[in-house]
Amino acid sequence: MRKKKLIIGNWKMNPKTLALARSNFTSIKKESGTNKNVEAVIAAPFVYLPELSKLSSATLSLGAQNVSAEKEGAFTGEISAGMIASLKTKYVIIGHSERRELGESNEFISRKIKMTLASGMTPVLCVGERERDQGMWYLSAVKTQLEECLAGVAKNAISKIVIAYEPVWAISSTQNHRDASPEDFQEMRIYIRKILSDFVSASVAESVAILYGGSVDEKNAVGFLVAGGADGLLVGKSSLTPKIFLKILKIANEIK
Ligand code: PEP
Repeated sequence: MRKKKLIIGNWKMNPKTLALARSNFTSIKKESGTNKNVEAVIAAPFVYLPELSKLSSATLSLGAQNVSAEKEGAFTGEISAGMIASLKTKYVIIGHSERRELGESNEFISRKIKMTLASGMTPVLCVGERERDQGMWYLSAVKTQLEECLAGVAKNAISKIVIAYEPVWAISSTQNHRDASPEDFQEMRIYIRKILSDFVSASVAESVAILYGGSVDEKNAVGFLVAGGADGLLVGKSSLTPKIFLKILKIANEIK
């Protein structure tokens, strides 16, 4: 289990301007320095990374929200892992449900993971079922995602990957979304570690950070971190308001 909680804000296609991105990032950075038990990250849109990389620091680092599956060349509109890494970016969110919705397959996601690792950055692999069913098929849905996305990844690289469990039914942008409970997360966290231990040793599987994501806010964060045992959080909507995101960072910082 990692010592510092990893709290990643996923800004998605926000905010509207670079000026706002700069000012929100700066507001978070100003106060995040006091949270010694937390590693805070903002995953910003590509176009903001060059400017934000000038502001990023040891206490607030940068993430990207996507990466090309290709290394370089004739791939119009794509952004390579090498380009992203050159902007002091440490993390890359890969396999987010909003990108899977656009057609990204597990095999495609797996190639992105390998590119990200090869560039020295940390992939944040998102997994999560669309629905919870009585027959518990949701467990096998997540198992398939993990197995196919991690296929061919070097065993000694598994510990460098962060897994974010994000049940699609709990994400704030999902229509009629409902809240997941810390117990929902805890069950899945244990299950994910079990699957990982089929790839690598139990001790390596134990070292992989498993985050929770899905409508996290300043009220429910503590439940996922304490009762749920999350190594950190992937925060969408609540990361867009610096005041709320800072509250979540503070809550995570106070957990022993
Ligand atoms: C996300 O989509 O990664 C996410 C966690 O969003 P939200 O917190 O808004 O549900």
